[in-house]
Amino acid sequence: MLNRTPDSVYLDHAGSTVCAKSLMDSFAAEMSSVLYGNPHSASWPSQLSTTRIEDIRLRLLNFFRADPAEYDLVFVANATAGVKLVVEAMRSLPHGYVYAHHQACHTSLVGAREDARHAACLDDDGVQSWIQGQDPFRDVARHAATLFSFSAQSHMNGRRYPLSWAKSLKDQAATGSRQLYTLLDAASLSATSQLDLSAPEFAADFVVLSLYKIFGFPDIGALIVRRSAEAVFDHRRYFGGGTVDMVVCVKEQWHARKTQFLHERLEDGTLPFHNIMAIDAAMTVHKRLFGSMDQVSAHTRYLASRLYEGLRCLRHGNGLPVCVLYTDPPDGEGSRPSGPMVSFNLVTSDGGWVSLAEFDKLAILKKMHVRTGGLCSPGSIATALGLEPWEMRRNLSAGFRCGTDNDIMAGKPTGVIRASLGAMSTESDVDSFVEFVEEFFMEETVPAPTTESPQHSTENAAAMRVKAVTVFPIKSCAGFSVPRGTRWEVRPEGLAWDREWCLVHRGSGQALSQKRYPKMALLRPSLDFDRGVLRVEHGVSEQEGIIDFVEIPLSAKPDLFDTRDRQTSSRVCGDEISAQSYSSDEINDFFTDALSVPCVLARFPAGGRGLGSRTTKARMQKHQRPNKIRQLPGAFPDIPSPPDSDSEQQENGKILLANESPMLLVHSSSVDALNEEIVGRGGESVPDATFRPNVVVENLPGQPGEPAYAEDSWSGVRIGDQDFKFLGACRRCHMVCVDQATAERREEPFSTLAKTRRFDGKVYFGAHMRHDAANRHGVAGQVPTIEVGDSVTVYDER
Ligand SMILES: *Cc1c(COP(=O)(O)O)cnc(C)c1O
Repeated sequence: MLNRTPDSVYLDHAGSTVCAKSLMDSFAAEMSSVLYGNPHSASWPSQLSTTRIEDIRLRLLNFFRADPAEYDLVFVANATAGVKLVVEAMRSLPHGYVYAHHQACHTSLVGAREDARHAACLDDDGVQSWIQGQDPFRDVARHAATLFSFSAQSHMNGRRYPLSWAKSLKDQAATGSRQLYTLLDAASLSATSQLDLSAPEFAADFVVLSLYKIFGFPDIGALIVRRSAEAVFDHRRYFGGGTVDMVVCVKEQWHARKTQFLHERLEDGTLPFHNIMAIDAAMTVHKRLFGSMDQVSAHTRYLASRLYEGLRCLRHGNGLPVCVLYTDPPDGEGSRPSGPMVSFNLVTSDGGWVSLAEFDKLAILKKMHVRTGGLCSPGSIATALGLEPWEMRRNLSAGFRCGTDNDIMAGKPTGVIRASLGAMSTESDVDSFVEFVEEFFMEETVPAPTTESPQHSTENAAAMRVKAVTVFPIKSCAGFSVPRGTRWEVRPEGLAWDREWCLVHRGSGQALSQKRYPKMALLRPSLDFDRGVLRVEHGVSEQEGIIDFVEIPLSAKPDLFDTRDRQTSSRVCGDEISAQSYSSDEINDFFTDALSVPCVLARFPAGGRGLGSRTTKARMQKHQRPNKIRQLPGAFPDIPSPPDSDSEQQENGKILLANESPMLLVHSSSVDALNEEIVGRGGESVPDATFRPNVVVENLPGQPGEPAYAEDSWSGVRIGDQDFKFLGACRRCHMVCVDQATAERREEPFSTLAKTRRFDGKVYFGAHMRHDAANRHGVAGQVPTIEVGDSVTVYDER
């Protein structure tokens, strides 16, 4: 039995936490029957730990076929910590070191260059010429030692590199005077293949690996050191508890290092001894379930080629491939076999890239667990995607970070999708994943661009009315429906009281969102102006009366706020905002208990003053600008325009904590049309509230009104006597799948939206707008308001 839910597909085996239940049982049995002590004293439990650890160290060396006479194994937190130990030793050498790494290295190996006197990044040819005598450092730092590191297998695309490089380079170095050491990163290779240190051509001095990638558990790594290279560590300066025999620190400063085994000199502090014991159980269970590493290797190789073929064969209706693959073909001529993973990007039928953020949203929804992004693989990613250093820097300054929504920059992807296979992967995992890609990303028919202009209503013919007005006083919590007959104030930053508050994580300072904490939907704020409070209710059943609540004064009295830290800077969608956090335990505990997340309530200064304001992020879509290139429907170009040509950006519209723009409008005909699609596909219809709109408009009964999705092409509306300018279509994520009444996650409506409302790889529904006060004078200009039932007229200024 594996700890995966039966309906999920787990294809992210680097750092896999998929553990066998039998492993947990056997580990639990040992832990609850034997008392192990911190291995530093003479007590019986302590001695027992020491013995067990030494046995396990030996068992691991045997597992990698490393002769204990020739190698020592040092326990480290992870592969990266192993690299850092080597770097620490190398930089303490009397003449320091020069460093070369192969281009396909993991970030953790690239970082080793920072302590080196000189550093170089080599491609395959660079390594070959070095082997043939072209030392990349021949003119520099003659006395420094050389460290060369490379990956046995790229964790970006699975490509394998010759282990013989270490030996060839050593042979070459033997002809000169410089000391050369080689570091092999076997973290990816060893996860699904037998790492064999007994092979005659194996020559690396240091090997780093992550044991959790092999066994799933425990989270620990290993550094294997060839004894002939141990001298490198003689100059290491730091010592910690456990690595010395004696320390004098009063009056004199002197210490005696442990000398017998290298691991004794390097394992500072208390070893994670329970983790180490777990390795023993893990190795036993792994063998019982999966047999030898060679069997794992054969199994995963078969699955990887099935996955590769499955993805390679997917074609759009026009014959273009759906996937651009970065992994070498398993049957490629002369190519070395790759590790069991497939890296790729998706393309649309017209050749555009599909954004990874969009792919992720669907993958999460469909429980397809794969890794996306730069994968800590800067060199391989840059090579595979053709990214130049200047482009990567430009992307960073333009706001790109790992995991952001805009991952297609200047027409190039900034990361990849990687599906990797492990011992526990099955044929059905592979098939479900290929079917998923086919279902959502293969376009059978290619949409022809529409050329005729969409129909627009003429000015002043009221076609619609306001069906509902909703404010969301606390960002990401439930909405407060403005009662019929109540006029509600509209401010430059949106509806009054909208996203005036937010909940901030106590640790990270991040504003909480429903995307991560769906239970926020169950926190129901209401504004009670008579009593001057924001009342927030939370509870299972209104009928049964089990409702907990808290009341927060609407007036922002200074004594309510935390004075130690008046301006809590929090992050909303990656932008820094400043909000004042409340000091009351009663208030903060209410939210903390309701969500089971340590958080505080924070209030945003009204009107978005000073630091408090954020610039509206929604952009005018091209179709809404006067010089539109292409008519809707068909495309929502997402090309950020230069600031000087985009007056929307220049005005710095102020907004509170709404994610994108001051207000969100949804046309109820569009919700109806979407529901028809959903029901037609066998799903359940969703209410308007699913989309968390501020304003819902509807056609007048008995009149043709505006068709579904007409809002895509409006440039503005007049509601009652107020004008609103449209800012662009609203890009959607799987947060729309949180049922706002129950906080449960469903597949709809995102699943159907992704099939019917995806343009240029992005999913849109509803429109952003902001109040336009330009032409209003008198009362309508001073206190602009809207109300349920107000007439709605579309205007078209083009
Ligand atoms: C996972 C991985 C690492 C990093 O391992 P940690 O255990 O996270 O330090 C380094 N290199 C490769 C090839 C990997 O796959």
